[in-house]
Amino acid sequence: MQHILQLIYLISSVTFILGLKFLGNPATARKGNLIAAGGMILAIFGTIFLYTTEGGEHLGNLGFIFGGLIVGTVIGWMIAKKVKMTAMPQMVSFFNGMGGACAALISVIEFRHHVELEGFSNIQTGTLITIFAGLIIGTVSFTGSIIAYGKLEEKIKDFSLPAGQYINMALLLSLIGLSAMMISGNIANTEMFYVIILLAVAYGVLFVFPIGGADMPVVISLLNSFTGVAAACGGFLYGNNVMLIGGILVGSAGTLLTVVMCKSMNRSLTNVLIGNFGGGAKTGAAATSTTFVGSIKEVTKSDAAIMMKYAKKVIIVPGYGLAVAQAQHVVHELEELLEKNDVTVKYAIHPVAGRMPGHMNVLLAESNVSYDKLVEMEEINPEFATTDVVLVIGANDVVNPAAKTDPSSPIYGMPILDVENAASVIVMKRSMKAGYAGIENELFYKPKTSMLFGDAKKSLSELVSEIKSLS
Ligand code: NDP
Repeated sequence: MQHILQLIYLISSVTFILGLKFLGNPATARKGNLIAAGGMILAIFGTIFLYTTEGGEHLGNLGFIFGGLIVGTVIGWMIAKKVKMTAMPQMVSFFNGMGGACAALISVIEFRHHVELEGFSNIQTGTLITIFAGLIIGTVSFTGSIIAYGKLEEKIKDFSLPAGQYINMALLLSLIGLSAMMISGNIANTEMFYVIILLAVAYGVLFVFPIGGADMPVVISLLNSFTGVAAACGGFLYGNNVMLIGGILVGSAGTLLTVVMCKSMNRSLTNVLIGNFGGGAKTGAAATSTTFVGSIKEVTKSDAAIMMKYAKKVIIVPGYGLAVAQAQHVVHELEELLEKNDVTVKYAIHPVAGRMPGHMNVLLAESNVSYDKLVEMEEINPEFATTDVVLVIGANDVVNPAAKTDPSSPIYGMPILDVENAASVIVMKRSMKAGYAGIENELFYKPKTSMLFGDAKKSLSELVSEIKSLS
């Protein structure tokens, strides 16, 4: 029986690796998700029905296990069904927090179990190290992710204590120091275990509290890797290969994603964690009152239609507003219409456009935009110089020149799409309000730029009708 279970674990582990591989491309991402989920179901049911203890006993408490599975599945299904695409990062953060809590609970249960079974002083050092690592990392991931969820939902405001970094450092050192003393036997009082939980809760909260809005994706990805490591600790504790491999995969994938996102924002991880980038972001609120040279110029839909219909090349820059307006289908219609008129159309994809990594790819894939039309930032930037019209749809921060020119700007250093190099730029948004980073955008005041105010979906539909009427 145990051989069959090990084979099932091996198959599941392979599905996780394949799943990750497929997730790397929008065309295969859905398949990758299903394959990995299938592997996880196999591992769960394999464990429930085939796992036996050394004494040959099967798992007990099947009522609780299936009760938990049913409740968790129903709640998870309902949340995932209901969630809006723009609220995905919150959901990922929330689910990630639950994973961290599970990993921490495994440590709590195993600690109590070992204390009862063999007495605290007889627990092996390796077991204690794994228990403490899983406890601390899992708890930090849980509380940090819940704070990140609250911040993205705008239920929790950015907040930093005076000398917060020193308090965090002191908390971290206390966590490591107290755990080391318990593991080495210098502290024999098992109550200290619960003090460590409280300290880890405080550290998770205070670590994420001050991090600025625009840095949240990096933090979520980092916390995701924490959950993976904490789950891997559970795998070590139980000698369970699939849990170990799954945890390591999540840990390493999360770490790689964190590094890639930091690179996209041109920032170091330390800078993200203590630099307060985009801190105090006034998501969608009134912008700062910077004064720019130049003035705001509006363009009518019929003029915009003429500019685009008679252009040779148009680059569309999608942003968060496209997702809010759910304008992905009508933008595809516009693209097809322009191509029929011999206009070359491409989409410029900024790595942090929208509210989650890959947001624009997922959104445009929904309306069957061909993947070869989605061009990444590094590749598309040199093309703006040979472009007649850039159509910026609900994007703001990712085209803000302050990232290159204003060292005092909270987004200074983030690579942006060089739309200004095109012959003309049309910006579609509803008002002059700021984007996620809460700052004004000088691009809107440039002579080449004209604004087309209104909801992106409505404006695009009208633009499509105007272009059709010109044919
Ligand atoms: P921004 O948030 O900078 O700007 C979006 C713009 O869309 C707003 O200025 C808003 O202006 C406009 N808008 C909103 N609704 C509509 C609508 N219905 N129709 C038309 N326009 C609309 O988006 P970007 O994509 O340019 O930048 C993403 C930002 O989010 C970056 O700062 C990034 O760091 C951050 N971020 C990214 C994450 C990721 O992983 N991708 C995750 C979390 C944050 P108005 O209100 O005037 O219409």
